[in-house]
Amino acid sequence: MSKEKDDNYWRDKLTPEEFHVCRESGTERPFTGEYWDVFEDGVYRCRCCGEVLFHSDSKFEAHCGWPSFDAEMNEGVVAKRPDNSLGMQRIEIVCAKCDAHLGHVFPDGPTETGLRYCVNSLSIKLDTESGKEGK
Ligand SMILES: [Zn+2]
Repeated sequence: MSKEKDDNYWRDKLTPEEFHVCRESGTERPFTGEYWDVFEDGVYRCRCCGEVLFHSDSKFEAHCGWPSFDAEMNEGVVAKRPDNSLGMQRIEIVCAKCDAHLGHVFPDGPTETGLRYCVNSLSIKLDTESGKEGK
């Protein structure tokens, strides 16, 4: 199980920026990431383990500076847990497979799901080839 891989494994595999966000629950600065304004067709995979987490169809412009989605690819691929850090009550989202920190999910989405998955670009990787095969 990749969940048991330790920091040394990930430090070796990831850039320092990716490591900070994915393994230390860091947050990239808004409007600096690779994907906040990208709307190409494809699927977004976990930067750490390659698991497909989001589809470009669920991506929307949230004007918050981070890639935002209104749904996860399949129920359960994204795990949620309470995060009460920084004096806020938020729901952290992580890759269910490898525990990589992705961002937070908020109940104020503008679409019918009512959800806004706010994700760091550094936590995901766009795969435009897999997207063509459909969901
Ligand atoms: Zn993962």
